Amino acid sequence: MINFARKYRHKDKMAQLSNRLQRLAPSATLAMSQKSSEMKAQGIDVINMSVGEPDFNTPETIKQAAKQAVDDNYSRYSPVPGYADLRQAIVEKLKKENNLDYNTSEILVSNGAKQSVCNTIMALVNPGDEVIIPAPYWVSYPQMVKLAGGEPVIVEAGFEQNFKMTARQLEAAITPKTRMLILCSPSNPTGSVYNKVELQALAEVIKSHDELYVLADEIYEHINYVGRHESIAQFPGMKERSIVVNGVSKAYAMTGWRIGYIAAPEWIVKGCNKLQGQYTSGPCSVSQMAALAAYTCDQQCVEDMRLAFERRRDLIVKLAKDIPGLEVNKPEGAFYLFPKCSSFYGKKTPGGDIIANSTDLAMYMLQDGHVATVGGDAFGDPDCFRMSYATSDDNIVEAMKRIKDVLGKLR
Ligand code: PMP
Repeated sequence: MINFARKYRHKDKMAQLSNRLQRLAPSATLAMSQKSSEMKAQGIDVINMSVGEPDFNTPETIKQAAKQAVDDNYSRYSPVPGYADLRQAIVEKLKKENNLDYNTSEILVSNGAKQSVCNTIMALVNPGDEVIIPAPYWVSYPQMVKLAGGEPVIVEAGFEQNFKMTARQLEAAITPKTRMLILCSPSNPTGSVYNKVELQALAEVIKSHDELYVLADEIYEHINYVGRHESIAQFPGMKERSIVVNGVSKAYAMTGWRIGYIAAPEWIVKGCNKLQGQYTSGPCSVSQMAALAAYTCDQQCVEDMRLAFERRRDLIVKLAKDIPGLEVNKPEGAFYLFPKCSSFYGKKTPGGDIIANSTDLAMYMLQDGHVATVGGDAFGDPDCFRMSYATSDDNIVEAMKRIKDVLGKLR
């Protein structure tokens, strides 16, 4: 009785949270990861393939630069948009790797690419504005759009089209209220990579509509198995329409350092700078110096990690293709596999439960197979589920063996 009363009071308080928060869904990827940690704490040998981060340590030279920054007293507020020398290093990176011409006033460094995405949406989207998001999508995009009061417009780009939205689909989704397209390539959760021809076709559609912008999330740029990264900002007239988001989290195994950036027209950077100045200030001073080292050091560390991910991609694709009932594409980037699993829906587990959807399937694979994945519902694609292969070869082999075993028990 006392417990019930306490619980009720807690629920009552939750209802007092702001309306803007009531519209927000919690992160499904973090929820799955937490569940797997709880099982691990009970002594269960869970293989966690639900997380979205490299399993490597930050390269040594970058760590040394951070230690030096501490000794050099990089301990005070930095300028809101980030240190000038870091922004200059980003300008040089964009020129060298992407052949894009920016200057430092068009760069804003933030607390991870996540803040860069959120800043941009908050700066450009008014209540009622529509934002086109191809599905499958990164879980945070629609939530951030809702936070800004905007309307996410989801365009389905499923397994059969290799998870890539066509120019025709984009054109069909645009209305007078459309303000922005969010494009993620290489993609989380599918690993799909838009090629130059596909990007150019999308760019033509964007340019044919006034005041339509593209937020190009390129955080997986360096984890690419098909060659040079292509940015949608490269086409004539597109720099003015693009907000390029990137950062050090994935390429340099620096997820915890929290450094991301936008490269965008100066008026958008100024808007985001105003928001960031009131909200969080410049990002962590020591992390910025680590990011400066990342962009200026020998880039072999990036290539070494990319090669390891490519080898693991080949391994997991081979093993997944060997599991009856799964349909598997070959991801061209990032470190996720997004197999189609809808052939299992409606089947029964040995415990007598019916698998109704991908979340049920992910939960079954966790509880009976001790492998943590994330159901595709969370990413706007109910037919698939996501596995991160940013883990050791041994873990990949063992996880796929377990998944094959438990899926084989569904009747
Ligand atoms: N965009 C995508 C598509 C991501 O997967 C992530 C990280 N999961 C981010 C942005 C955010 O990256 P950061 O760690 O730099 O905030």
